[in-house]
Amino acid sequence: MNIIDIIDKKRNNNKLSEEEISYVVKSYLSDTISDFQLSSLLMSICINELSIEETSYLTCEYIKSGIILDLSSLNLPIVDKHSTGGIGDKVSLILVPLVASCGVIVPKMSGRGLGITGGTIDKLESIPGINLNLSKEELINQLEKVNCAMFSATDDICPADKKIYNLRNLSGTTSSYGLICASILSKKIASGNKNIVIDVKYGKGALMSNLKSAKMLVKYLTLVGNNLEVNVKCIITNMNNPLGNKVGNSLEVEEAIDTLLGTGPKDLTDVVILLATSMVSMAKKISMKVAKAEIIENLNNHSGYNKFIEMIEAQGGDVTLLKKSNYKYNIKSEKNGYVVGFDINKIKELNLMLRVSKINKNDELVYENGFEILKKVGDKVSVSDNILNVYSDKKIEDFQELNNLVLISNKKKKEKVIVK
Ligand code: URA
Repeated sequence: MNIIDIIDKKRNNNKLSEEEISYVVKSYLSDTISDFQLSSLLMSICINELSIEETSYLTCEYIKSGIILDLSSLNLPIVDKHSTGGIGDKVSLILVPLVASCGVIVPKMSGRGLGITGGTIDKLESIPGINLNLSKEELINQLEKVNCAMFSATDDICPADKKIYNLRNLSGTTSSYGLICASILSKKIASGNKNIVIDVKYGKGALMSNLKSAKMLVKYLTLVGNNLEVNVKCIITNMNNPLGNKVGNSLEVEEAIDTLLGTGPKDLTDVVILLATSMVSMAKKISMKVAKAEIIENLNNHSGYNKFIEMIEAQGGDVTLLKKSNYKYNIKSEKNGYVVGFDINKIKELNLMLRVSKINKNDELVYENGFEILKKVGDKVSVSDNILNVYSDKKIEDFQELNNLVLISNKKKKEKVIVK
């Protein structure tokens, strides 16, 4: 077998065998094939796509490249969640303890963000004292005591995905349904999960830019999940606008706490309830109706909030010590009308300026910085109304850049967050 023949085969839009996919992954891990050879194959895959079968082989190969966490000693049902991510997506912070409070184990391995916003690990890291690097023993111990844990991805889970993911980022080869699907599912399965709920987001601030591509990714995730005998349920949500009101690492932790206490924004609360209901229904094998009643009850009686505090404290964190920014600025509307959306590019620029998110892996974040949306899509605004609060560790002299970050029009518009 050799890599040139395999590249040729994929360039000519033929299907690769299980042996060929295994050869590629193993050879790249052992440095027998080079970055430029694999980039060439990845580009052929982006152009011609992987079939469901090829994606299933690749997913298995990623899983086999590292350790598989054995959580079989835990005697409660286990469920996990993944989100393809977006601006203001703090859903995991709320969902994990809420679902765990219903008697379900939730081992949530998460990553860092790059580019648009912080990842879940960045958000959690804003909590002073927290330990996110749990050893296998610490993880199992905590899951036995608390039912849930949130922790950083370790190098020994799916190392092949990690190495190939880096190359995809550097070679412009991220956009293939098969590659994305294998990358997502392998990490979930290798971390001991057989029940997985996935929030597939589409829109201006998301990995999938439109509904059609979100639906195609759902097809891949569900069919490959079937082939690998894991339960996968996908929910499609709209990410044309930030989720919730607050964007920024510690600000998002604050909003997650508000939501667990029942005072969070409606769009965020609705997404949480749907995902949490799906997770509890799948794990406990109960109807969506019964699962939803449990979730609502545990939101109302603050069991989800208490579980959040228990989880954070078990990991050494203290949310009472969340840092506040030195400066708060009110941004006012210059127009009358209705909010119809947000300029995602301006939000990206603002996030980078405030160091809420990173361009390069080694950039330092300022956890307390960020912004708060005071008017959402559909809200009426008048000139001089406060539309945005900006939180910063440093003085900002000029807000010119923020002009038209909130898009205002004469015509009212409503946007549905949950699609299906
Ligand atoms: N998330 C992942 O883990 N991998 C991808 O390829 C895309 C999103």
